[in-house]
Amino acid sequence: ELYNKVLELKGNIRVFCRCRPLNREEVAAGAAMAIDFDSSKDGELTVISNGAPKKTFKFDAVFGPQAGQADVFEDTAPFATSVLDGYNVCIFAYGQTGTGKTFTMEGTEQARGVNFKTLEELFRIIKERQKLYRYDISVSVLEVYNEQIRDLLVLGSQRRSTSKRLGVRQAGEGMHHVPGLVEAPVNNMSEVWEVLQTGSSARAVGSTNANEHSSRSHCIHCVMVRGENLLDGECTKSKLWLVDLAGSERVAKTEVQGERLKETQNINRSLSALGDVISALATKSPHIPFSPNENDLGETLCSLNFASRVR
Ligand code: ADP
Ligand code: MG
Repeated sequence: ELYNKVLELKGNIRVFCRCRPLNREEVAAGAAMAIDFDSSKDGELTVISNGAPKKTFKFDAVFGPQAGQADVFEDTAPFATSVLDGYNVCIFAYGQTGTGKTFTMEGTEQARGVNFKTLEELFRIIKERQKLYRYDISVSVLEVYNEQIRDLLVLGSQRRSTSKRLGVRQAGEGMHHVPGLVEAPVNNMSEVWEVLQTGSSARAVGSTNANEHSSRSHCIHCVMVRGENLLDGECTKSKLWLVDLAGSERVAKTEVQGERLKETQNINRSLSALGDVISALATKSPHIPFSPNENDLGETLCSLNFASRVR
């Protein structure tokens, strides 16, 4: 009931599709763009195969190779207001390894991504509202690799290759909690930047190949917001999840063995469970299958089909 109410009030899911430019190596190798934006209408893109249009997809917005971080953030900024109004928000990046998920979410120091910019917007609005509301913000950064949770703020601050194992607890309808996870209070953007940097540098700790590791694990930022209305004392609690998912490429189970097979199965299982949750939310199904471990769910669809079916 609560979910349906929230969905009705705020609309449920937005899907944005971003396509990165061809990189230098791809250009040098004479690669052709598989996506056409020019001839499409707003929010549409067409997949091109052998020079001919193959299929057109429609999203809430599409961002072509020329779009910068600021263009992408224009459509993300309103979610900061939702979180401060007490709604839970989740922004996640889905796609094959190398398509620009980390660039979009994390960005670089010169071209900061959705994570930084959303928190910046949060603090901007907090200042704007300071006569009416008081807010406490804290941030957790965790990684899920092979169904195991690592606290990246603990790893980042202690420079250790291991940290204690953490688990997920169900905390009420659709709510989850990770007991023991560090929640770093942040009061301004320089503290935010420090926390984001600590988390980011910890991702590679303890892995032999940093790129490979980050493409096989989910990186999750949870921003916890506690608000108090200074006029009537009413309090709100909400969470903003910022998620850089593991690469969605399907590795055929026959191609891999051992550790790699386990990784692949875990990624496929978590992404297809995510797909089912999104489908249920999109159709406002009364049962939201938040618990991925109950069943071994089906295979993952490719990125565009995944994204377009929620509409
Ligand atoms: P993923 O996280 O999906 O594996 P990355 O974010 O690491 O992919 O992107 C792969 C490479 O492409 C990186 O070198 C990144 O800087 C570059 N890149 C991704 N998106 C863009 C973009 N929109 N503009 C310019 N470079 C990009
Ligand atoms: Mg990445």
